[in-house]
Amino acid sequence: MRSGGSKALGWFGWAVLVSGLAACVALGVGAYLLAGYSWDRVVAYRSPYTAAKLPAAEAGSSGPAGRVVVVLVDGLRDDVSRQMPGLERLRDHGSDYVLTLGQPSLSYPGWTTLLSGAPQGVSGVTTNWFEGRVPVETLLDTALASRKRVVIVGSPDLKTLYGADRAAGSSFRKWEGDYLSDVLVDDAVKLAEEGDAGFVFVLLPDVDEAGHDLGGSSPEYLETARRVDADITRLVQALEDTRTAFVVVVDHGHIDSGGHGGWEPDVSRVPAVFAGPGIALSAGEGRHEDVAPTIAALAGMPTPRHAKGEAIAAVLASTGPEVLRATWDQRFAFAGAYSFIARGKAPMPP
Ligand SMILES: [Zn+2]
Repeated sequence: MRSGGSKALGWFGWAVLVSGLAACVALGVGAYLLAGYSWDRVVAYRSPYTAAKLPAAEAGSSGPAGRVVVVLVDGLRDDVSRQMPGLERLRDHGSDYVLTLGQPSLSYPGWTTLLSGAPQGVSGVTTNWFEGRVPVETLLDTALASRKRVVIVGSPDLKTLYGADRAAGSSFRKWEGDYLSDVLVDDAVKLAEEGDAGFVFVLLPDVDEAGHDLGGSSPEYLETARRVDADITRLVQALEDTRTAFVVVVDHGHIDSGGHGGWEPDVSRVPAVFAGPGIALSAGEGRHEDVAPTIAALAGMPTPRHAKGEAIAAVLASTGPEVLRATWDQRFAFAGAYSFIARGKAPMPP
């Protein structure tokens, strides 16, 4: 048995203790500063690319699809999307893709990438508290420039971010805790049938809310996804005809316990389904920023000016110049401006 008792610290002990404490404090302050710096790098990021003077895209003519209906399901995981019978049926008749997201994997950045083809580093939209209009062109802009009748249904945020109230038909409803996708689909069907809509965009919030509340691996999340699936099927059945293509996309997934923003595969690899006229039977992988150029090619609209992605050729039944010329022109102009800015030069002159 050892004899106990406290022994006074010698000068050496004190020196070790004090310098240890000082090191801890310095490390803590350093970590705090680094975290603050990293946070600011993301949150206060200003894209140099949006200042580039890019040529206005030419108004498109007509594409392989006379009407494109885009459904954005907020927060839907890829594995759960494969347990949605309506979506599986669309996959069987079209293109089944898994897309990799940019970071951070939040909703505003994801919506913006899907609508513009510009990932976070180009759009500058890096948070869910981005304020005002996004500084990049979107499919809404190019659809309006192509004189298509546009219908937009979803969150009121779409007005501030994208000027969605410019659409000929629109309905904006805030998610307040109750299931909303049924009412949003009713609105979309009604507005699309009121006129000859060429571009329809519907944003469905319920799956994301279920993910945050109960987790991405919970039975309730799957149940909500299946309920949304039934509403998407209702939308498809109401608008289906020989000229209408459907595109179902997702902004991000959810981790098992709920939440998103990072690199986890359940969050950062999301499904995309394309079906209808002009669309091939295919399956593969792509990037989030490829969606907008693919939709533009399908609808015969100009690719949004700041798009960094490119149309996924395997999704398109035809990849002739009549389908892809507008997207080639845009890529050429953007690549010029992009390389100019990436070399540290001022924005490209007009
Ligand atoms: Zn969310």
